[in-house]
Amino acid sequence: MNQASLRHREILSVAPAIARLIERSHELSTPFLLIDPARLRSNLHQLRAAFPGADVFYAVKANPHPGVLQILAEEGCGFEISSDGELDLVEATGRPTPLLSSNPIKAPGFIRRAARAGVLAFAVDSPDELRKIAFEAPGAAVYVRLLVDNSGSEWPLARKYGVGPAEAVELLVRAADLGLRPFGTTFHVGSQCRLSASWDAALAVSAEVWNDAARHDLCLGFLSIGGGFPVQHTRVIPSLEEIGDVVQRAIADRFPSGVQVTLEPGRAVVGDAALLGASVIGKARRGEEHWIYLDVGVFNGLMETIEGFSYEVSALASGPTAPVVLAGPSCDSVDVIAESVALPDLEIGDRVYFLNAGAYTLAYASCFNGWPPPEVHFLDRADETR
Ligand SMILES: *Cc1c(COP(=O)(O)O)cnc(C)c1O
Repeated sequence: MNQASLRHREILSVAPAIARLIERSHELSTPFLLIDPARLRSNLHQLRAAFPGADVFYAVKANPHPGVLQILAEEGCGFEISSDGELDLVEATGRPTPLLSSNPIKAPGFIRRAARAGVLAFAVDSPDELRKIAFEAPGAAVYVRLLVDNSGSEWPLARKYGVGPAEAVELLVRAADLGLRPFGTTFHVGSQCRLSASWDAALAVSAEVWNDAARHDLCLGFLSIGGGFPVQHTRVIPSLEEIGDVVQRAIADRFPSGVQVTLEPGRAVVGDAALLGASVIGKARRGEEHWIYLDVGVFNGLMETIEGFSYEVSALASGPTAPVVLAGPSCDSVDVIAESVALPDLEIGDRVYFLNAGAYTLAYASCFNGWPPPEVHFLDRADETR
């Protein structure tokens, strides 16, 4: 198991937007997820500014809360969906929104329904998926998921999906033979990707496919650069502007003018728009180790910590810090959030905050052992940070 290296941040040094969330959360019972709608909107605006002209499709799986989808729908954001459940959620916003389906493996019934609901195009990475789409959604547009290097990412997504350039071109040719519309390509550099060069390398692979496709008389127009845009936690990350510059340069150098660029951000839209709050429910000394138990753990909100994902945590308590093992509330021994995190002395009932925890927390949370997922709250409009 990869160990998460959480880092304590003094409550006095948190960013003003986070301090405001903490201040507004005192009345809430834990665990909670307090979301800042203004931050959601400004994250979307920042993405649009960093990638001018690109279409943005929010990856619903990052945080599918209806309130989040409503705000993004109001902003005219598109949605990337891959299941009936996600389509239900998007339809419940009551707004017509552009839709994309980027999981290369989809259930047949979903494909049929999504095509009727107006999904623009479907991702593929296998002949079987092409046949399925040709049957369920004749004439649909398809784009190929490419296998790209995920080594700069903290939550890699390679291996499970994606094909190399030669196979990609074969799939596009075969799509045309099946009466489908060969539309373009997509990739995912891995979630929380800390290397802007990963997008450059992935665009080089994409360009190889586009050039080869042109030799087969296929005219592609849709270039998705996936998700993976990082959120500030404990490590240095490139800014969206830096990634945007790298991407724009790569596209100008390697692609025909007028390609439609698409982003599928999940984490970068919601990650730093929410605060996760927990309470200390127990303490124990085990040999040399001090253990602190919270009412939130890997099963009801902090799933990403099992793969070594590193949040900043803050506590209202002050004073000198000492290393503790931070654990969730369930009986399962997997439910350890971090093996060693330096925290001030905490008492039962004290609050611990996980900063920038809006993405992949709620969505993964179960009720295992009777511990509920964080309750979701939104800052009132009057309270929103600007
Ligand atoms: C999960 C996912 C995304 C979003 O990834 P982030 O790292 O949250 O930006 C985008 N596209 C696809 C196909 C995904 O599976």
